Amino acid sequence: MEFYIYNTLNRKKEKFVPLNSKEVSLYTCGPTVYNYAHIGNLRTYIFEDILKKSLEYTGYKVKHVMNITDVGHLQSDGDSGEDKMALGAKRENKSPWDIARFYEKAFFEDCKKLNIKKPTVSCRATEHIEDMINLIKKLEEKGYTYIANGNVYYEIDKFKEYNKLAKLSMDELEAGSRIEVDVHKKNPLDFVLWFTNSKFTNHIMQWDSPWGCGFPGWHVECSAMSIKYLGEKIDIHCGGVDHIPVHHTNEIAQSEAALGHNWVNYWMHGEFLVLDGGKMSKSNGDFLTLSRLMEEGFTPLDYRYFCLQSRYRKQLVFSFDSLKEAASSLRKLKAKINLINENITSSENVDESKINNYKLKFENQISDDLNTPNAFTVLYEVLKDNMLTNKEKIILVEDFDKVLSLDLLNYETYNKSNVDENLINSLIEQRCKARQDKDWAKADEIRDTLKDMNIELIDSKEGTTWREI
Ligand code: AMP
Ligand code: ZN
Repeated sequence: MEFYIYNTLNRKKEKFVPLNSKEVSLYTCGPTVYNYAHIGNLRTYIFEDILKKSLEYTGYKVKHVMNITDVGHLQSDGDSGEDKMALGAKRENKSPWDIARFYEKAFFEDCKKLNIKKPTVSCRATEHIEDMINLIKKLEEKGYTYIANGNVYYEIDKFKEYNKLAKLSMDELEAGSRIEVDVHKKNPLDFVLWFTNSKFTNHIMQWDSPWGCGFPGWHVECSAMSIKYLGEKIDIHCGGVDHIPVHHTNEIAQSEAALGHNWVNYWMHGEFLVLDGGKMSKSNGDFLTLSRLMEEGFTPLDYRYFCLQSRYRKQLVFSFDSLKEAASSLRKLKAKINLINENITSSENVDESKINNYKLKFENQISDDLNTPNAFTVLYEVLKDNMLTNKEKIILVEDFDKVLSLDLLNYETYNKSNVDENLINSLIEQRCKARQDKDWAKADEIRDTLKDMNIELIDSKEGTTWREI
């Protein structure tokens, strides 16, 4: 089946043609490990996981490489602001190395909870300094760099196609880099490849280099490591939309200048998750993590399901109310599937052609630039289809779950022991009292609260009982 991808490079949906039919090369920009990932970051990793699994579902083998940014970098995408790793180290009174390892582990734990598959290769920036130095040397040999005030800069005016991904006016491009003007740059958009003289003289993470002891700029790690593990031409490169104007633009400038040819065929970008009240940012310290959602009583897969209800290229507004709605429909979906599973009988048939028809329908949706909302429509069609046996339905659910990864056949998480019976009984008593007082609004409100907890009340002459829905 043909696979379609929205390619940011050309601003259109295109048929995916891999460089090598046997294995797709996929590079995704990984986390900066100076703090926990926020749920916005995790939305992007969920999108990339769906991409990888959809490609695998349609028959491709995928080699997926992701970097771990564990070198200290500046808070802004330009070369200004505070050093992120140093900030984390100061905050927690640990060394930058300890900070990096701690948050890397926390990141992979979050991914595991969200059923995000590990990359084929995950590579730490600190373990690839030599590869970065070699890339910078190549750029220097080819005349793309200059040294000013002790730092090695990339001179963007030497790379004619600098704007090919961002497609912004120079004013728009410059807006992002002008937070703090670096007087040593020839062009405000030039960026540092190697620092020997950063404004942080006490930088702990330092390495020897031909230009002196120092550390790399942020963008160079992705170019160096992706080329090392995936070769000089790559099928797909992903990240969040914030990476389009600076990070990915600079990655292209470095890689294509060094290699002397086109580098990545398809660029895919996930839109942002935003909070009801605006943007989510790690640097102001106030952000939502997966653990916070769990403290509020949600499961990680409630959040995954919430993300999959929207297309990855649409901005998604997060609120606890909408997450609650998503959690409730996931619970109902799993209850439905559980019922079907419990009712399978040994005499049921399996008709391969009916199964394949539905598999094709599902594949059609995910290979249409990852249309996950429509993929769920196919799943609901399967559950409703009277022409399918229970056995056939469960085979299809299991199959679709290879991509959706919601543990759809696991209803155990919702067993009775998770229900707080004391709380339910106390709410029923309060509602009873409200009804005696003829406070119907309050009584209705309590009924709705219980409904949100997936508890249905049954009123009869004998009193009120409840059941899980
Ligand atoms: P970082 O750890 O800051 O480098 O970000 C990791 C990934 O999350 C990158 O691909 C970013 O583009 C992406 N990202 C950052 N903020 C958000 C957000 N609010 N919503 C979705 N993705 C985001
Ligand atoms: Zn990157």
